[in-house]
Amino acid sequence: MQERRKSSNVLLNTALQEFYGAADEMGLSERLINVLSHSERMMKVSIPVEMDDGSVNVYDGYRVQHSTALGPSKGGVRYDLGVDMDECEALAMLMTWKCSLAGIPYGGGKGGICCDPLTMSRREKEQLTRTYAARIEPILGRWSDVPAPDMNTGGQEMVWMLDTVSKMRGRLEPAVLTGKPVSFWGSHGRNEATGRGVATCGLELMRVLDMNPDNVTAAVQGFGNVGSYTAKTLNDAGVRIVAISDVTGSYYSAGGIDIHRAFDAVKNHPKKLLEGFESFGNCEKIDDILSAECDFLFPCARDGVINAQTAGRVKARYIVEGANGPTTPEAEEILQSDGVMILPDFLANSGGVIGSYFEWAQNLQGAFWTEEEYNNRLVHIMKGNFRRVWDWAESKRITMRRAAAMAAIQRVAEVCEMRGTFL
Ligand code: GLU
Repeated sequence: MQERRKSSNVLLNTALQEFYGAADEMGLSERLINVLSHSERMMKVSIPVEMDDGSVNVYDGYRVQHSTALGPSKGGVRYDLGVDMDECEALAMLMTWKCSLAGIPYGGGKGGICCDPLTMSRREKEQLTRTYAARIEPILGRWSDVPAPDMNTGGQEMVWMLDTVSKMRGRLEPAVLTGKPVSFWGSHGRNEATGRGVATCGLELMRVLDMNPDNVTAAVQGFGNVGSYTAKTLNDAGVRIVAISDVTGSYYSAGGIDIHRAFDAVKNHPKKLLEGFESFGNCEKIDDILSAECDFLFPCARDGVINAQTAGRVKARYIVEGANGPTTPEAEEILQSDGVMILPDFLANSGGVIGSYFEWAQNLQGAFWTEEEYNNRLVHIMKGNFRRVWDWAESKRITMRRAAAMAAIQRVAEVCEMRGTFL
């Protein structure tokens, strides 16, 4: 028997150990455990970019397809200095469980480029994105691998990628990636979908716990695509958002942050940041959003922020993971013994990829849904998925993360058995 994998990369090791734990609890065969603990395909590319000063930088880019058992591998492309093959593998595996749990016909993938996009000009980013797309083009396709936005990427990057792939193939390929702008084969609602889904999960948790959103306070870490729309949806539902944050700092108001003003602040900032929000947002700057007094904490920024060092500072009783992998296993242990409940990332933030599936399905049909139809379907699916995991966790007396993992792995395992183990 082959030895089980371990990794020195925290995120990858966490993904692997969580998978082994859930798989063992459900009695999955060692054969399947072995297959599913490895990625099907991993690609590394070098991306030369001519910088504005005339020099040439070569960036490392990655695309990992963890599993295509359920369908084409699906997952975002991120631009961040932390990106490497291990991180992409971990996040691709997470996407496999996310898509399986969501009940959509996709496997899991992830990609990214190790770079600091905040220091790059628009022209440099365009060249970076187009060359990356050209180099991973052989493995992309609407029936093989479908990228989407992730950390520090959005509609513009998707258009550059789509345009490059379409030019190389001599035909428009709208369904080859999702998260496109509405004006170019995108969907009304996709931009807000992840945040709307995260907030919907939080609101469902309040509902099953008989909490009135009007009496609930929340802190939302991160004010990018996920955090901003999580905060807005919660705010619209009556929740008082007492703290928000981004890379420029944390902003607190016991009486509630004016979310519409925060959107204005970001819109008017050259790099779309909250910088200076304390001076016109009627709030104060605090050192650490994790220690803000609140009932619910929504970490929507990045992985590993709630760790052994920071877990003790968390005041919230409920954590809803908007980011991928924000809580380390050590932190989860500490929080669990304190009685804090965590809604796991691959349940809570699945609104993004569910929305991507809607967009892809429309692209394949050449159809366009209304925003209302899109949002209603999204909320309906999110509520159903939350309920399924909640009931399972209650009946088996296990955590929401373990229940979600077991449900997700079960579907993948079933299909692997039917299709044959070596897909
Ligand atoms: N990047 C998002 C995620 O991590 C969306 C992925 C997608 O839509 O393919 O779930």
